[in-house]
Amino acid sequence: MGAGGSDPIREVARLLAERRNAVVLTGAGISVESGIPSFRGAQGMWAKYDPTEYATLHAFMQSPRKVWEMLSEMVSVCGGAAPNAAHKGLAALEETGVVRAVITQNVDGLHQAAGSRRVIEYHGNLDELICVYCWKRYPTRDRWTPGSVPQCDCGEILKPNVVLFGEPIPWLAQEQAEEEARSCGVLVVIGTSAQVSPACDIPRIAKELGAAVVEINPEPTLLTRTVADVHLAGPASEILALLLQSIRDEEH
Ligand SMILES: [Zn+2]
Repeated sequence: MGAGGSDPIREVARLLAERRNAVVLTGAGISVESGIPSFRGAQGMWAKYDPTEYATLHAFMQSPRKVWEMLSEMVSVCGGAAPNAAHKGLAALEETGVVRAVITQNVDGLHQAAGSRRVIEYHGNLDELICVYCWKRYPTRDRWTPGSVPQCDCGEILKPNVVLFGEPIPWLAQEQAEEEARSCGVLVVIGTSAQVSPACDIPRIAKELGAAVVEINPEPTLLTRTVADVHLAGPASEILALLLQSIRDEEH
């Protein structure tokens, strides 16, 4: 694929349409166009909040009120964000039977808001709060208002049900993600370089078991040189719009 000067968009569209068995792995890059800052980079959350002080389970257990300064910002930003054309494009590809599932490292809930039905949330979701003492769960909107620090009925401070550094991936999400990777025909990686363990295993598992790996990122990543069969360079919204159009053309 991608050799001989042919059109890589058309080749990927043909592959997706033929196999009708694609699984998508998304990361922070897909939500940037929705106004959600990514974590790394000069404009990222980690430039403002040192992750060792704000994003580890240890930090939360030590000083939950301090960690909620960052969490409040995340909940506010994600709560006010709307899905962009890339999220909607993936939902449309699921609707047409080309995409089977989305595995996301994001905690913003925007895939579901766009209409995707099978979404595996690798790192949890900000919509839910959990007590790390008694394990009671609450919808975030029931317990949190801007500037507040949400409390459990038991009196402890609640944590968003997202995976902080030092916490394991929810076992069910990990099982489901690996099963999707093992059985897909095409794995499409969007908006992430998938370098963080264990999300980095997903493209590798898919590749080893015979899937084609397609990468959609604005710039080449380590994935481009190692696992990806083809790299479509550009904003996810534009690339997905081109793929959708090309698949529709193929089918007529
Ligand atoms: Zn509790």
